[in-house]
Amino acid sequence: MIRLSLGTAARLGLLRLRTMAQPTTAYLLHGEGCLRNCAFCPQAREARRPAGRLGRVTWPSFPLDQVICRLQQARSKGLQRICLQAVHERGGSAAVAALSRQLKSALSLPLSLSVPVRSTGEAAVFFEAGAERLSIALDAASAELYERYKGGDFQKQLRLLLHCARLWPGRLSTHLICGLGESEEELARLLELLLQAGITVGLFAFAPLKGTALERRSPPHPASYRRLQALHYLLRRGCISGDDLIFREGRLISYGIGDGELERLLGGGEAFQTSGCPGCNRPYFNERPGGFIYNYPRPLEAPEIAAALTLLNRE
Ligand code: SF4
Repeated sequence: MIRLSLGTAARLGLLRLRTMAQPTTAYLLHGEGCLRNCAFCPQAREARRPAGRLGRVTWPSFPLDQVICRLQQARSKGLQRICLQAVHERGGSAAVAALSRQLKSALSLPLSLSVPVRSTGEAAVFFEAGAERLSIALDAASAELYERYKGGDFQKQLRLLLHCARLWPGRLSTHLICGLGESEEELARLLELLLQAGITVGLFAFAPLKGTALERRSPPHPASYRRLQALHYLLRRGCISGDDLIFREGRLISYGIGDGELERLLGGGEAFQTSGCPGCNRPYFNERPGGFIYNYPRPLEAPEIAAALTLLNRE
């Protein structure tokens, strides 16, 4: 059996669901109940979680053979990638590598792994098993927040990520969560460092989830998230450099370009779509249906772009 995000299961025709956007990547989850204790995660050791939750999403399980068969069919209908995520568990690396080999031998879709990685040797095993890309999650944007909410050594994790990015250029991703208490300046400086190292960043907005240690914390302010999305887009497109940025008390107040130029560069709306591996749109990973859309899983319509641009200058 393998767990699929609810949206993925619907996309593969394994259940019925009405959604704003279908996933363009198939999200698979291996394992249940993590050895680690991240304060924001329903899979954390001490979380009071319902089974089969990760992030905001529910992950029902299905027979692996049936899932592989449906994935192959979905490829011809535009599915772009498989993302296999896994919790920390004993013997988990070997199981993830075996599952990756099985997926790669049966399917011709690129595979991203978002799994615990402890060394470059372990990363090599995952690449040899068929991963096209590997995500080593930082989640928190500072050492202090990493230690407080994830436990462990931020610098060690960052060094491993940077080392892997040098060994496998263009094949490393990471995830950053906005809204854990970092300043926009802290997140901006880390983004700049990661992008310069050729690492792809998936930006997430913190979502308070029932049963987790942070269930009462507020999600990030929409204006702040829009500023960071715009910054991420402008940096990865090479439109600005980190030296151009101006901050006041940790808040980003200028990208170092004029308002007209900024509107021209952001006017297509792509900055406000989900970021991460190619073809990854993660619908509803951050959003409640009907609530504020942090990461658009599809191209934005003109009024949505106008609203996003208006937010950039709000407090
Ligand atoms: S960016 Fe998307 S496809 Fe890549 S590891 Fe993250 S969730 Fe998976």
